[in-house]
Amino acid sequence: MTDQNDDVLADIAAAVAGTDRRYERIANFAWPKGVQMAVNFTADFDAMLLRRLLNEPPMQLAKGEFGGRVGIWRLIELFDSQQVKATIFTPGRICELYPRAVRAAAASGHEIADHMWEHRVPDDPALEADHLRRATAALERTSGRRPVGTRSWHRHEALVREGYIYNSHGSADHLPHYEYDKDGKNCLLNLPFHYAIDDAMFYSFAWLGSGNAAQRITDTDRVMDLWWQAFQQQYAQGGYLNICMHPFVSGRALRIAALEKLIQRMKTFPGVWFPTCADVARHCLQAFPAGRATA
Ligand SMILES: [Zn+2]
Repeated sequence: MTDQNDDVLADIAAAVAGTDRRYERIANFAWPKGVQMAVNFTADFDAMLLRRLLNEPPMQLAKGEFGGRVGIWRLIELFDSQQVKATIFTPGRICELYPRAVRAAAASGHEIADHMWEHRVPDDPALEADHLRRATAALERTSGRRPVGTRSWHRHEALVREGYIYNSHGSADHLPHYEYDKDGKNCLLNLPFHYAIDDAMFYSFAWLGSGNAAQRITDTDRVMDLWWQAFQQQYAQGGYLNICMHPFVSGRALRIAALEKLIQRMKTFPGVWFPTCADVARHCLQAFPAGRATA
């Protein structure tokens, strides 16, 4: 007689072993001279695409639309006024819906990075490659620069082929680290984030089609308190913080005001760096290249 738990634990053990094979921590990680900690402000410019994909009702689509019409502009204005260089992860289709916002963000020196063609990755490798090519071309055409980063489920092979140098996905570590694909051939730097530092986890009702019991509208003081604590803890360790926002969530006026205070507070600490994700990635790749053969 087999215990069902044995099967579950065997699956977990296999997953852990898989991650062990694929994961490479950077030993003796350090920031450039004079930098104690890097903070990446990242915004996933989903607008209506994610809501549409989840087949959500019209009110939810309208919520996404606010992100494209108002939220993104407020975030750009906030980052510009605070001299913060942010990274905007943008689905290719957004270049058709809100090209002016994408152009304005790029003109301000913010990084425009990939967030899939239509916020999903097809199973078929040929179709996946086609989606990635379309998204990359759309972002390059609209922003004037070829994207080098992504926040997506795309396979490493497809990303490396298109010249991507990093992904910002998952939370296997709290520092930048390397991840190999299943057969160990392709390697990408990963800039991790965590749902505890993600606006949608605190401010978004009906997130991912959640039921009434799972609604969450947290006050800004509480959220800024949590993020401030995360910042202080990472600062003490010379660590890294990737703050994940969505223009339709954080673009609300009261949340922009709270973010402004948070950034100003972070700036009172010496040696805090507010670069784009691409800047962080280039530092890591240059100072701490991946240690295994990737041929
Ligand atoms: Zn998204």
